[in-house]
Amino acid sequence: MSMFCYQCQETARGTGCTVRGVCGKNEEVAKLQDLLIYTLKGIAEIVVKGKLDVGKLGATNYEVQSSLFMTITNANFDDGAFENKIKEMIAVRDELGQLVSAADLHDAATFTVDTRASMLEKAAAVGILATADEDVRSLRETITYGLKGMAAYAEHAKNIGMEDPAVNAFIYEALAATLDDLLSADDLVALTLKTGEHGVKVMALLDEANTSKYGHPEMTEVNIGVRQNPAILITGHDLLDLEQLLEQTKGTGVDVYTHGEMLPAHYYPAFKKYDNFAGNYGNAWWKQLAEFPSFHGPILFTTNCIVPPRSEEVQGRIFTTGSTGYPGCKHILPDENGKKDFSEIIALAKTLPAPGEIETGKIVGGFAHHQVLALADKVVEAVKSGAIKKFFVLAGCDGRMKSRAYYTEFAQKLPQDTVILTAGCAKYRYNKLDLGEIGGIPRILDAGQCNDCYSLAVIALKLQEAFELDDINDLPIAYNIAWYEQKAVIVLLALLYLGVKNIHLGPTLPGFLSPNVTKVLVEKFGLAGIDTVDADIELFMAP
Ligand code: SF4
Ligand code: SF4
Repeated sequence: MSMFCYQCQETARGTGCTVRGVCGKNEEVAKLQDLLIYTLKGIAEIVVKGKLDVGKLGATNYEVQSSLFMTITNANFDDGAFENKIKEMIAVRDELGQLVSAADLHDAATFTVDTRASMLEKAAAVGILATADEDVRSLRETITYGLKGMAAYAEHAKNIGMEDPAVNAFIYEALAATLDDLLSADDLVALTLKTGEHGVKVMALLDEANTSKYGHPEMTEVNIGVRQNPAILITGHDLLDLEQLLEQTKGTGVDVYTHGEMLPAHYYPAFKKYDNFAGNYGNAWWKQLAEFPSFHGPILFTTNCIVPPRSEEVQGRIFTTGSTGYPGCKHILPDENGKKDFSEIIALAKTLPAPGEIETGKIVGGFAHHQVLALADKVVEAVKSGAIKKFFVLAGCDGRMKSRAYYTEFAQKLPQDTVILTAGCAKYRYNKLDLGEIGGIPRILDAGQCNDCYSLAVIALKLQEAFELDDINDLPIAYNIAWYEQKAVIVLLALLYLGVKNIHLGPTLPGFLSPNVTKVLVEKFGLAGIDTVDADIELFMAP
């Protein structure tokens, strides 16, 4: 076995990628990612054992979080970027280490490496499988993946100028705990739930950051056709990057389209003033190999998911920023004020043809908590009158697996008196279906990106209040969630922390959950996988 990674849903055979990632990650990048995580754990141990004041760590907090983010599935394939980041974080670690006594520090807080070869050698000894006990390993990795998702959302919020000190401190606490051999499986289960608690906090933070700067998402029709102008495609989650791109393309004759998880940006009032914000092109992340060739213009990744391009022509049009990276693609860094210069992308766009049409029409979204709560009276009335029998949270991720066709069929076969609440790129499996509406309420309510699952939780809590129920699980809401990568892990842990039970998770359960850990989740939370569409709908609709 030359590498081991089982952090995403597409992991080989459902158990682990051992030679090369299904995502395209090679052995070297996998090992460098393992070593980077190990280094971050060492930093965390110094912060925790040294009782350092996290509020005073400023840039270190940000660097730790963006390092975690870099290791999320499909975020960064650039081995050179990882080597540099490891060196940088070891320097940070050693500087912090001077503030504490090294006597009882873990190897993660003291090891040294200087060359790529020594990094790879060290990585082989400290990867995931270094934890021998299967259950402890499973819980440590569940927590680590939750932290990766948490860090991604924290980074986006920080880019807009908002931080939560509790989230910053927890990331160190939890990372350090994954090194602690004295913690029992029960301790780690409790820490897993605490990770979910901070997942709620970080999603609330990002919601506050996005809505305070760009307004509350509102019901919006998004064009999915094309215009005749040259254009740039932007994907990922970072709304600040989008804002800067729109500002810099304004009046240049270059249009901007969204792809994948950037679609919900259209729902924010602040971006509607840009005439060149033309629409959404294509579908979820995994369709990029089919859709990028016909787009013709440059593509800017602000977060995962990057699918390794198959042609040099497309690769030559790809730009990365933030925690993303791909070897040979230009990476755009911010200046000291956080400003990014996209002029090279704009200049390239002007030399390229307008996007080729792949579809026409419009899709509707923007049903985050503020918009749905504005419709609350209508919604409550529809439930009371029986017009709406059940809500289905059909949120989460999309992915390549053929078995995900389940979600399209599920949406199509749902009874007419049901409403789908969605967020994340799972929506692309059904957001272009015409499922109609119930008394003016569309049957598919898209809240936004995967972090906007927070909105779905807020909506559920408000409905619980409106119906005066003691338990959130007494609401007529069923949860059938699709997952793919680690941002979905923090969303899942957040829902478990909020007390949501009987979540069905598909298309397969995570490979990183050991049989015993799965048993705990089944017994404690009623977590389940998916079956056939018909069997699941029957089960969900049972009184
Ligand atoms: S991220 Fe997923 S596909 Fe990529 S190596 Fe890890 S488990 Fe495999
Ligand atoms: S919805 Fe899932 S796959 Fe899509 S960006 Fe979010 S976590 Fe990643």
